Parts: sequence; structure tokens; C-alpha cells
Amino acid sequence: MRVFVVNSGSSSIKYQLVDVETEHVVLSGLLERIGHDGGDAVDHEAGMRLVLERLGSHAASIAAVGHRVVHGGSRFTAPTRIDDEVEQAIAALVPLAPLHNPANLAGIRAARLALPDVPHVAVFDTAFHQSMPPAAYTYAIDRGVAAEHGIRRYGFHGTSHQFVAERAAALLDRPLETLKLIVLHLGNGSSVTAVDAGRSIDTSMGLTPLAGLVMGTRSGDVDPGVLLHLLRSGLSGTELDSVLNASSGMVGLTGSADMRDVEAAFEAGDADAALALDVWAHRIRHYVGAYLAQLGGLDAVVFTAGIGENSSSLRARALDGLGHLGLEIDADRNAARSRDARVISADDAPIAVLVVPTDEELAIAHAASRLVH
Ligand code: ADP
Repeated sequence: MRVFVVNSGSSSIKYQLVDVETEHVVLSGLLERIGHDGGDAVDHEAGMRLVLERLGSHAASIAAVGHRVVHGGSRFTAPTRIDDEVEQAIAALVPLAPLHNPANLAGIRAARLALPDVPHVAVFDTAFHQSMPPAAYTYAIDRGVAAEHGIRRYGFHGTSHQFVAERAAALLDRPLETLKLIVLHLGNGSSVTAVDAGRSIDTSMGLTPLAGLVMGTRSGDVDPGVLLHLLRSGLSGTELDSVLNASSGMVGLTGSADMRDVEAAFEAGDADAALALDVWAHRIRHYVGAYLAQLGGLDAVVFTAGIGENSSSLRARALDGLGHLGLEIDADRNAARSRDARVISADDAPIAVLVVPTDEELAIAHAASRLVH
């Protein structure tokens, strides 16, 4: 069975045709600068027609279309077959994800027009985290205000966290239902999730993807009083948004959002880079300790995404000093380069440390195929 996976951004459409049984990518591509001068298409509808042209005879083999949708609010707890009502529900969540959901919707509408005869499935970044208990998702703010504005922790990267947890269980050759895991998704955007018996019980992102770890351009956790202070100091809401989302995190501390640049600067003796890496790792250890406590035990820490999969030095830095908890990386295993899921702790370590490559497109393809069969 082949699933066509669509990840539609505000000015881009990423697509992949995946054979679910073999996990083979039959075809993939990207349209960029949609709606901009010299871009690949004037709008998402035209973009999707172009994608269909590129698919050629493969289009006839599509059994379902899987759409990445960023925000599913409190309503969507699992992948969902899209009809007009579901489309409207995703539109109603735009206030919670003003940049992402409209872009995702544009892709859904265009793809439903272009491929009207196959089932379309929405796979939500937030859905996996709907299993969190109220204690983990409730912010201790005025209940009336929170209820009026839908304010609570939702969490993101859920498709990745779930996929990686399942693959970690397979690698450990143990049922996911018996495992307590901490999954570190460390990419340009980063988040950490406590997974107990295959369910998310806590995660570092919140109402929005701004909370938690130090990221490429986002601050992660700050005292909310910082925002009030800056507002009173004359920054506008738009300026605050831009400071916290676009010019904070690693770029704010060092001038580059890319960890490869930051590590190179550190090697060259740059003091800003040294501090930034310390802040980055300090925040990760803060969450590892917190989630160890919330889980009441731990079988494995799992690294994934761009940084987690590719940087042995940053993996070692993230868990540095946690040997007393039973968390220790084996230096040789960590240094070995591989694209496969692997164990990087010693065989007799009390807690396993793993590297498990994520693949959100494949996860969306599997989710869509499970739903339409
Ligand atoms: P996205 O969140 O955009 O999907 P990725 O998961 O692809 O991001 O991660 C991209 C980031 O991974 C880059 O910005 C870079 O900081 C980091 N990265 C990739 N390879 C390496 C590496 N070898 N060493 C350090 N960092 C890396």
C-alpha cells in the first residue's frame, strides 16, 4: 500500500510517496517560495497540481494521503480521517497555531481537490501528548482565563516521539508497554518527552513550541515575568514574538542557530559558544532529572533528530555528569558512525542510552495506512 505524505508550510509543500510495507520512498520532493516572486507556484492549489504532474503515473497508486497538522488542540487524540467537519475543526484551532494550521489547511484543501477519490488523514503533532494527565498539562493560572483561551500544555513533535519510542522498544527487544523512556528530540526545534508504557506523560513544549529546551532560534523556558518586563519596557507583542522565537536560543547566544557552527566556535576558544553549550546541556539535564522523577524509574534515554542523531560530542555533553543516576554513554559506541538505530551505553549499564533516527514522513504514512485499512 502506498501513502502520499504531505507537509504543507506557509510557502512550501514537502511531499513523499511511501510504500508502507517495504518502507521504501518511491518519490519525494519540495516546492518552495509558494506565493512569492519566482517561486515554484502562485498558491497551494497550483502547487498541488504541479506535484500531481510530477507524480505522473504514480498518482494512480496512491491509496491514502497523510497530512501533517501541527495543532490538534484538545479534540484530536489520534490520526483522523478528514472530512469537511474535520477541516473546519482544524480551522477553528488557528488561534492556537496562527502560522502553522493555516498552512497545513491550505495543503489539505489543495490535496483534497487534486485527489478527491482517496481518503485523506490528518496526523497531528499534538495528538500523542493528549495522554498526559491533568497534573502535567494544567498551567497554574486563572482558571477562567485559561478556559476562555484554551490555555494548557499541548506538546509537539508527538509523531516523532511516538515513532522513536516504538523503534526504541524494537531495538531493546522489549514490549513498549513495559518500558519507561525519555525521548530527546534535538533538532532545530527541540523537545523532550517522558514516555511510560508507550504513552506520553509529560513533555517540554507547551501551549506553543516555544517552551522547554534551548533551541536553534527559540529561547525555551523563561520566567514569564521576562515578557511582562519587556512589554512594560516598550517592546511590542510582535517584537517580543520575534525576540523569543527567532533571535533567541543558540542564535541569540552565539550568532548561529546551527550546532555545528557553535561547536566549531567552541573548539576555537569562543567564550559565548562555551556558555551557550553549557546553558543548552544544563536545560537538557534539568528535564532528564525531572522526567526520571515523574516516571518513577527509567529504562532508556533515546536521542533523535538532527543533533541527537549526528553529534556524538553533543550527546556526551547532554548527559555529562549523570553517571550517578546510572546514565553513562560508552565512548567507542557513541563515536561509531551509523544511520541505524543503536545502543550507545555499555551492555551492563543500568539505563540504556540509544540513538534512534526519526522519520516523521514514514510515521505519518504508517498512521494513515492503519486508519484506512
Ligand atoms: P528540523 O527541526 O528543522 O527538522 P533537524 O532535526 O534536521 O531539524 O536538525 C537540524 C539541526 O541539527 C541543524 O540546525 C544542526 O544544528 C543540527 N545538526 C545536524 N547535524 C549535526 C552535526 N553533525 N553536529 C551538530 N549538529 C548537527
